[in-house]
Amino acid sequence: MSQYWSPIVSTLKPYVAGEQPRIQNLVKLNTNENPYGPSPKAVSAIQAAADDALRLYPDPSATALREAIAVRFGVQADQVFVGNGSDEVLAHTFQALLKHDEPLLYPDITYSFYPTYSRLYDIDVVEIPLDGGFRVRHADYDRPCGAIIIPNPNAPTGIGLALPDIEALVAAHPDVPVVVDEAYIDFGGETAAGLIGRYPNLLVIQTLSKSRSLAGMRVGFALGQRHLVDALERVKDSFNSYPLDRLAQVAATAAIEDAEWFETCRQKIIATRDRVSGELQAMGFDVLPSQANFVYAKHPALAGAEVYSALRAEGVLVRHWNKPRIADYLRISIGTDAECDRLLDVLKNLPAAG
Ligand code: PMP
Repeated sequence: MSQYWSPIVSTLKPYVAGEQPRIQNLVKLNTNENPYGPSPKAVSAIQAAADDALRLYPDPSATALREAIAVRFGVQADQVFVGNGSDEVLAHTFQALLKHDEPLLYPDITYSFYPTYSRLYDIDVVEIPLDGGFRVRHADYDRPCGAIIIPNPNAPTGIGLALPDIEALVAAHPDVPVVVDEAYIDFGGETAAGLIGRYPNLLVIQTLSKSRSLAGMRVGFALGQRHLVDALERVKDSFNSYPLDRLAQVAATAAIEDAEWFETCRQKIIATRDRVSGELQAMGFDVLPSQANFVYAKHPALAGAEVYSALRAEGVLVRHWNKPRIADYLRISIGTDAECDRLLDVLKNLPAAG
């Protein structure tokens, strides 16, 4: 190993994002993208902004976007922080807010970005086991800690926590930052954004990659009281004082303002998810109750890796983690009805199904 590598970086296991295959014509149900494309108003905004003005730096404060988000959530624009995808917002959050003398708490089965960033920033962690039904129990977090991060709904399980449970968690830890990662909140959960005025320790993080169908533009944001946003801004400015490029700023603003497109797409996805869950259950799968744009499901007889490979051989790409307790589950993103029908057909024709 090179002597020029610092010990942490050389032993770091990087976060591995889901596969983005080069092969065309795959039914791509592996990274929870929205099958319906962004708001046409977002596309028009990008086209209108793709002109000579691109020679100029973007607005470093992303003012129009932060105002649009503030209006949408009933907060002040200075309570909004934006970044290149919620992954970047999370990265700044880990560095600015989650490192303390006491450990950071998060579920033992959760978004795999969290362990990576804890390690990168040398943050002590206690992973809190999900219960027998793969649920987060907020009372399990009643222990000394420096910070808490919870996805609501959790990933990859898709199971959400009710807003009163989130509030109980935030209220039980007034002295530590509690971060709620709401990447999938728009598919059936209830956002905690309305609580930020009452809880100075609450930071809510959302993305435009899922319900707003802008994964390719990389836009995410955080909502919290000014001191939390201020901490994030300090870290951001040390990396890059321009949070988002010009095209991302106009696209995201248009997408946030297009409530109708948002509502239509998310309702279609919820309906397809519920249908897919029902059909998988009818085939004998164990399907966790999802409030996200994916389902987490286990074949009645075959191992997860086998089902993953059989699907892949038929051109259907889903997500599988070979980890204890979840090795037989597959995370299946909700696509169009036609894509999901293709998935269901392949599953129905597996030798051991039914
Ligand atoms: N949080 C969770 C729980 C996720 O699953 C994802 C998607 N990988 C993200 C955050 C990040 O999404 P993005 O960076 O596209 O906003």
